[in-house]
Amino acid sequence: MNIALHPFDALMDITPRPPVVFVRGEGGWLWDDTGKRYLDFIQGWAVNCLGHSPPAIAEALTAQAKLLLTPSPAFYNAPSLELAQALVTSSCFDQVFFTNSGAEAIEGAIKLARKYGALHCNGAYEIITFDGAFHGRTLAAMSASGKKAFEPLFEPKVQGFPKARLNDLDSVKQLIGNNTIAVMLEPIQGEAGVWPATDEFLQGLRELTTQHGLLLIVDEIQTGIGRTGKLFCYEQAGIVPDIMALGKGLGGGVPLGALLATEAASCFEHGDQGGTFNGSPLMCAAGLAVLNEVGQPDFLKSVTDNGLHLAGELQRISARHGLGSVRGQGLLLALDLKRPIGAAVVACALEEGLLLNAPRPDTLRFMPALNVTREEIALMIAQFDAILGKLGVARCVG
Ligand SMILES: *Cc1c(COP(=O)(O)O)cnc(C)c1O
Repeated sequence: MNIALHPFDALMDITPRPPVVFVRGEGGWLWDDTGKRYLDFIQGWAVNCLGHSPPAIAEALTAQAKLLLTPSPAFYNAPSLELAQALVTSSCFDQVFFTNSGAEAIEGAIKLARKYGALHCNGAYEIITFDGAFHGRTLAAMSASGKKAFEPLFEPKVQGFPKARLNDLDSVKQLIGNNTIAVMLEPIQGEAGVWPATDEFLQGLRELTTQHGLLLIVDEIQTGIGRTGKLFCYEQAGIVPDIMALGKGLGGGVPLGALLATEAASCFEHGDQGGTFNGSPLMCAAGLAVLNEVGQPDFLKSVTDNGLHLAGELQRISARHGLGSVRGQGLLLALDLKRPIGAAVVACALEEGLLLNAPRPDTLRFMPALNVTREEIALMIAQFDAILGKLGVARCVG
C-alpha cells in the first residue's frame, strides 16, 4: 500500500468531484467535514425525495435492521410483499421485480421485452430508443442510451437499439420492422437536460405500439415517485404502458429500483431473472416509508404547487439576467442559460454553499427534495441571483 496516497486516491477516478467530503444531511441541507453548510438542489440526483435522512426512512431502516436483514432472495419477505402490493395498487402494473439500481431495472426491462419477443413474436428483440436518452451504465443500458459521449465506449455494444427522435412519431414508424419488440423512453429526458416528451407524442406512441403488437416501456427512474407532481409521469398523458423501470426516488436515498409489468408483459420464467440482494427487506422497508408519504394526494399537490412556484421564480431570474426559458414539470426543472456558463455557476454556487447541477454546459437542472419549503426556494433564488450578478451575466434594464 502506498502511504503517500491522498484519501481521495483510493477511489477510482470516474468523475470530476469537488474536494469536499460530506458528513451529514438533514432535509434540504448538507454539511461537509469542516462544518460548512450547503443548501441542496441536487439531492443525490433526484434521489432523496423526502430530503436528507428523513426520520420516516431512518426509523423504517432501524426497525427493519433489528428485525431481519435478508432471508435470501429465494424466500418471501414481508416488506417486499407489502411494497410490491403498494406499487401494483397505485399503478397500472400487475407485477414487480425489485432491483438494486435504476440501470438494473432497465436491464430487466430489456430482458423482459426480449423474453416476450421470444415467446410471442418469433424472437423479435429490437427495442427502439431515442437520441439523447439516458438509461444507465450497465453495458445494455449504455447501448440503449442515446448519449453521444457513450458512442465510442466499450465496443462492441449490445445490439438491437435503433434510435428515433423524441417527439417525432414518424422517426419511430420508420424504424419498426420484423425484429422490433418494443419502444422505450423517458417521459422527460432528464440527463439530456430535462426535455419532455409531449402528451400527444406519448399517446401517439401508445397507439402505434399497440397497432404493431409492440411493448411500450417507460423509464421513470427520474420522473417516477412524485417527481413531476403525479406518482408516475405516464399518468399525465393518460397512457397505460406495458413495462416501467423505477429507481432513484423509490428508495428515498437507499439503493432500490423496480421493474414493473402488466400481467400480459410479465413473462419471466424460473431461471430468467434474479439477484442476491433483490427485494432486500431493508431496502423495501425504506421504499414503503417513501411511498407512504409521497403517495398521499396532498403531498403530490404540494409538489405541483411548489414546482409551479419554483418555475415562476426561475422565470423571473431569467428575465432579470437575460437568460432563456424554463422546462420541465413538477420539481424536475431546467433553466436554459443560453450561454455555456453552467460549470461556472455550479462552481460559484458550491463556494457559496449551494448545490446546483448543470447536465449540459448551457443548462441548469433543479431537483430539490419533493418536500422543499418556500423558504428554501427563496434562499436558493436569492443566492442564484447573486451568483449571476457576480459572474457578470448582463442584467436587462427594467
Ligand atoms: C439515473 C437514471 C438511470 C440509471 O439509474 P442508476 O440507479 O444510476 O443505475 C436510468 N434512467 C434514468 C432516466 C435515470 O435518470
